[in-house]
Order: sequence, then C-alpha cells, then structure tokens
Amino acid sequence: MKTELTASLPNPVHPSPKGFSFAVAAGDGIGPEITKATLEVLRAAIPGIEPVEIVAGEQSYLQGEMTGLDAAAWEAIEATGYLLKGPVTTPQGAGYKSVNVTLRKTLGLFANVRPVKSYAPFVPTHFPKLDVVIVRENEEDLYAGIEHQQTADVVQCLKLITRPGCERIVRYAFEYARVNGRKEVCCMTKDNIMKQTDGLFHKVFDEIALEYPEIKTRHLIIDIGAALLAQRPEQFDVIVTPNLYGDIVSDIVAQVAGSVGLAGSANIGEKTAMFEAIHGSAPDIAGQDKANPSGMIHAAAMMLADAGKTREASLILNALLKTLEDGIHTPDISQEGHTAQVVGTQAFAAAIIARLGQRPTHLAAIDMPEVEPIHIRPYERKTVSRTLVGADIFVHFADNNANLLAEKLRAATGPEMKLKMITNRGVKVWPDGNPATFCTDHWRCRFVSNISRVDGESKVFAYVPAQHVINLLQDLLHAGIEVIKTEHLYNIDGQRGFSLGQGE
Ligand code: NAD
Repeated sequence: MKTELTASLPNPVHPSPKGFSFAVAAGDGIGPEITKATLEVLRAAIPGIEPVEIVAGEQSYLQGEMTGLDAAAWEAIEATGYLLKGPVTTPQGAGYKSVNVTLRKTLGLFANVRPVKSYAPFVPTHFPKLDVVIVRENEEDLYAGIEHQQTADVVQCLKLITRPGCERIVRYAFEYARVNGRKEVCCMTKDNIMKQTDGLFHKVFDEIALEYPEIKTRHLIIDIGAALLAQRPEQFDVIVTPNLYGDIVSDIVAQVAGSVGLAGSANIGEKTAMFEAIHGSAPDIAGQDKANPSGMIHAAAMMLADAGKTREASLILNALLKTLEDGIHTPDISQEGHTAQVVGTQAFAAAIIARLGQRPTHLAAIDMPEVEPIHIRPYERKTVSRTLVGADIFVHFADNNANLLAEKLRAATGPEMKLKMITNRGVKVWPDGNPATFCTDHWRCRFVSNISRVDGESKVFAYVPAQHVINLLQDLLHAGIEVIKTEHLYNIDGQRGFSLGQGE
C-alpha cells in the first residue's frame, strides 16, 4: 500500500530518495545493533537517505511514557508515513502497554505481512523450497488487550473478531496473492471450537474467495495447519489467519527456514506502514555483536519496495543473498561446510555493503517488479435484524454447589425470565451437571424468556424486552446475588448469535 509522502531529504542529488523519508526507532536489546547495521546498508545503497530518529521502548518508558512513544515520535511517523522499528522490550509491570500493539492499533496497521523463504543450502534448513507469506490480522483477536480479573479464581481476555476486520485482512491476502502472482491462499482458524469468532473469519474467507476464482483456496484447523507448517512448509503459499495464530505460525515458519533472525515483516495501514524484523529484542545476546540483522534488513527492503523503490530494495537483497552464499554468516546460521567465516552483526553489514551491485549465483536473484498498490475497498455495513432472546448473567458464588446456586437464582427471579442453565468454565453444571466437573467461583447463568420459549432449535428463542433483563438484574441484586457482568443474547437475522453451553 503506497503512502503519499511530502518530506524531502537534504541531498537533492540522488534521484531515488527524493520525497522519501522514514522514522527509525532502534528499540531495545539487540535493536540498536541491528538498526545500526541496517542503516549503514541503507545509506550505502541509497546515498543521501536520512531517516528521522525517534525513541521507542524502554528509554521512552523510563521517561514516563506509558505507551513507549513520545509526541515527537508520533509526529515523525505521521509526517513520513513510514516507521522502521527495532524490536522493543515491553516491561512486565502493570500499566505499561506494548509499543507494538499500540502502534498497530493507533495507526490502523491492519495487515501484518511476513514473507519467509529458505536460503538452502547456505542457511541450514530441512526445507530448501520453502517460500511462504503469512498474512496475519494485526489489530483484533485476543490482542485487543481487554482483560479483567473478575473473581478470586478467574481472569478473562476478550477475543474480539469483527466483520470489517475479517473482510479487510482476507481481502488484503487475496489482493497480495493476485498482485504477487501467488497461487493459493490458505485460511487457518479454530472454528470447530470458536464457532462465532473464528467461524466469522472462516465465513468471510469463503465469501471473499468467490471474488478470486483464479486463486486456489483451502481452510485448515490451526492445530493441524501449524503441524503441517512445521513438517511440510513447502506445500504452503499464502496463509491468512487471525492475530494470535499468525504470530505463532510466522515464528514457526521463520525458525524452520533457518532462523527467526532472517525474516522481516510489514505492518500495513491505509496511511502509514511500519516495518520490523519478526523476532524480539533477544536480551540473551544483546550487546554482544552476535545478532543477525537480516530480518531488519529484509524489513527495510520491504519498506523501500512499498515506497516504489524496488530497484534499491533488490540491490540490497541481492547483496544480502550473495553474502549468505559466500559463507559470511552470523552465529545463528553458521554451519560446518557452508560457513566460510562467522562474523558479528556489524561485520555482516559491512560484507553486504561490499557486495552491493553483486548478485547471487546459486540462490535466485531478486528483481522486484513494481507492483500495483493494494487498495482495499471501504467496508459497507449491512443491516441485520437483532432480536434479544435472553441474557447470560455471570455471578460470583464461592460455594461450590451448582444446585444451591440454581435454587437461589430461581427463588430470586420474577415471572418474566427463567433460568435455563448454569455453566462453569463453559461446561453445563445445572441442570443435570456431572459431579466430577471442576467448578470455580465464576458462574454463567443463562436466562431466557419465561413466556413463549420452545425448547430445541435456537431460532425459536423468544423475544425478551430489554427491560426484563434490567428487572432480572434488580431481582438478583435484591436477593444478594453478586452479578459480575451481563452478556445479552441475540438472534441475528433469525440465527442464534451466541454459543450453546457444552452439554446444553
Ligand atoms: P526473541 O525473538 O527476542 O528471542 C528468541 C530467541 O531467538 C533467542 O534465543 C534469541 O537470541 C534468538 N534471536 C532472536 N533474534 C535473533 C537475531 N536477530 N539473531 C540471532 N538470534 C536471534 O524472543 P523472546 O526472547 O521471547 O522475547 C524477548 C523480548 O522481545 C520480550 O520482551 C518480548 O516482549 C520482545 N518482543 C518484541 C517484538 C517486537 O518488538 N516486534 C517481537 C517479539 C518479542
């Protein structure tokens, strides 16, 4: 996705960098080392290129910025439209927000694109033909970061999946495949268990796939998908998947390709894009000049390509491939028989710079074509009919006895709604619970209309006026039952819009 850029650079002589600049954040751990190496390669390949340096991560947290970024950093990112970022360490303490998640969500960086290729035999891998692109949804899912401790026993994290989010990422994956000449898009979800959330992702995938008949499609449950990626990654082309699975499978693929230190990623938004290595700040090797800067160099090349500088991106990547071919390796990828010299981070960058203009002789050289920018059409919300048919009332109840809780609830409930079931951790414990089921102090109590509900198919759940839910909550309050939260149950276009309890 191209971004309109206005910032001009100090050196007007060089033709290509004119009009292009980017913000750069060195990050933490190995971040400063790999950023220095990457910038040296960029400066050598594109004389005159000068990024705007910003601070992100630990240094910013220490200065009291709870988001890990100060105002000047935000300004530079927005002014240039591009951020090249080193990995950052998120402090474990409460109150600190991950810089990565903040950046992705604040800037609407909805697509995380992670191409992984193997460089066999120069980088050890069992999969010499591996060439996979993971398109990971970047803003939603469990990474929405909405977590609560609700009782002594129970904490929860809300998994949010939206139709606009699914449409945008799935469309992006198909468009990416189309403009890059890829043959197949494979969707991975866990919709056999999460029928509403992952079910929506899969459903949207099936809908949008119809618009791309020339591209093959398939869907895999994420567990077998991840297993196949570890065992036969060469059978995959483009993979589209929700946020958490994407995070995990992209590390698996990068690792089986040779090292997590090799792959770069693009975080793409409508107006801004952020580029980074896929790995973290690797505190175990920080400050030792051991880190492989290839992931960040790949990320920088992706940034150049996004800005239309495919020639410069190819120049850098071919020099990187030639360096690998010549056996100049950082410790993470060194292997007997293929490594001529084990070098540190900075010497690796110097070896790339020395090879700018050279092309690999064994590995396929890269001549990045100018690809058309990917435009995702705006989301059009469809009108749906929503009918309130009940409520799940979550209560705190420390006595480990579902029958006793049911008695209390039924005694407290007025004539409008009735208790249908109680679950504990999603498993039905009333009526007819199994005494072996382990229970916590956190109970979901499902109430439906007492008037005309017919057992059986979800479609016949009867309408419940919202006031009846409020009356019910008041009844429970007066009976001394501690309500933690309420989820309304809706039928959407006549279909049940909520999951049944296990055993319901
Ligand atoms: P990690 O990716 O930092 O390290 C995992 C392993 O891979 C380590 O053994 C490390 O030495 C090795 N490794 C990573 N990058 C390498 C490179 N370029 N060259 C050679 N070896 C490399 O994962 P982690 O240890 O789980 O996380 C460390 C920190 O990084 C955490 O604070 C985490 O929150 C953060 N993190 C940041 C990002 C990001 O900024 N995008 C991503 C992931 C993790």
